[in-house]
Amino acid sequence: MKILVVGGGGREHALCWAIAASPLITGLFCAPGNAGIAQEAECVDIAAEDIDGLVRFAIDQAIEFVVIGPEVPLVAGLADSLKEVGIRSFGSSAKAAMMEGSKGFMKDFCARHAIPTAAYSRFTDVASARAFVAAHGAPIVVKADGLAAGKGVIIAETIEQANEAIDDMLDGNAFGEAGAEVVIEEFLEGEEASFFALCDGTFALPLVSAQDHKRVGDSDTGPNTGGMGAYSPAPIVTEAMVETIMKTIITPTMDGMAAEGAPYAGVLYAGLMIKDGQPRLLEYNVRFGDPECQVLMMRLRSDLLPALMAAADGVLSDFDLRWYDEIALTVVMAANGYPGSYDKGSEIKGLEAAAALPDVTVFHAGTASGPNGKILATGGRVLGVTALGKTVAEAQARAYQAVDAINWPGGFCRRDIGWRAVMREQG
Ligand code: AMP
Repeated sequence: MKILVVGGGGREHALCWAIAASPLITGLFCAPGNAGIAQEAECVDIAAEDIDGLVRFAIDQAIEFVVIGPEVPLVAGLADSLKEVGIRSFGSSAKAAMMEGSKGFMKDFCARHAIPTAAYSRFTDVASARAFVAAHGAPIVVKADGLAAGKGVIIAETIEQANEAIDDMLDGNAFGEAGAEVVIEEFLEGEEASFFALCDGTFALPLVSAQDHKRVGDSDTGPNTGGMGAYSPAPIVTEAMVETIMKTIITPTMDGMAAEGAPYAGVLYAGLMIKDGQPRLLEYNVRFGDPECQVLMMRLRSDLLPALMAAADGVLSDFDLRWYDEIALTVVMAANGYPGSYDKGSEIKGLEAAAALPDVTVFHAGTASGPNGKILATGGRVLGVTALGKTVAEAQARAYQAVDAINWPGGFCRRDIGWRAVMREQG
């Protein structure tokens, strides 16, 4: 089969790496890809947001199956456009992608279907939003309704901070159209975990859990990022917890979406807050997380491709995926300055030495090939150095050994990825 993967980050490198191992493929393309993906797939210079360009390429190359990585093309309707020309794809319809595309839609949906989540209200005008904050007090959470590349959530410690976020989003145009409406919600306490399920419109197959590290600095300090590292599984997501998550969150979502005429097919990524054994939904994403996808793909033992196709074809209930018991852990290496402004074009050395270490894979998130085979950093998050281990401590030690083999003065990483789980292991 000829396959096209859409996207060019660490998530898509992990997807291409897994798909390239499938005996089913005869050709693997990635648009736009990156220097690491180029080792697995033929990279095509079409942006992930260029819906028409991608559809044209898929027709011209007789692509049989498209795997859509990021949320932007999903929300923009790439899966629908491919369907119109008879090409199958893995990824939700635009209508179902509203689960991530509009936080207000997601919250109203949860309210209609009694899915546990934070109490909330939706606002388009500053005065009523401020009045709501005044009535509820702080801490409180202000969220831009639309897609804001992970930056549209403000955890306000004080009423003043909440008001500032409201002003920025509704009046200051901080997120453009995405912030023309805000959701204001109750601040939830607990431990966060990510949970993933493959969905085929009616049936959801649970995958595994992960925990990520959003803050840029060690000990969870500094500004939020797209994610500085992750590990899987999340110790808090026990087998009993998986059952609770499926029963109270994932299955009612599948049933509700189908009943509302927008059956959900693709991967459902639930961001959860867990307290006293009760999971509550913080957010839904309609794609794999990045870097969570890297740890998931390292742990996956089965062929990924047939599972993605079964999700697209509505036959997932016949499926059973097998996983390695080992822990996978990813350390993200980012360009100096990230998540603020950062330099591009610095050279990365030592990648081969790092990748040669046992049970280590270095996924590329933001790289390009330079002259004479050089690998250059082109993004904020640049590498996802991933290792397997029998314990979190072992996976962590291996990942940092690989990080230390990489010679890249233009980049940095957190040195404590997995700390919470390592502390648990050590009792
Ligand atoms: P979201 O994009 O909605 O997941 O929000 C990003 C991050 O903000 C989450 O991973 C949480 O750490 C935090 N967050 C979001 N909503 C809440 C909430 N209601 N209470 C506490 N923390 C939250």
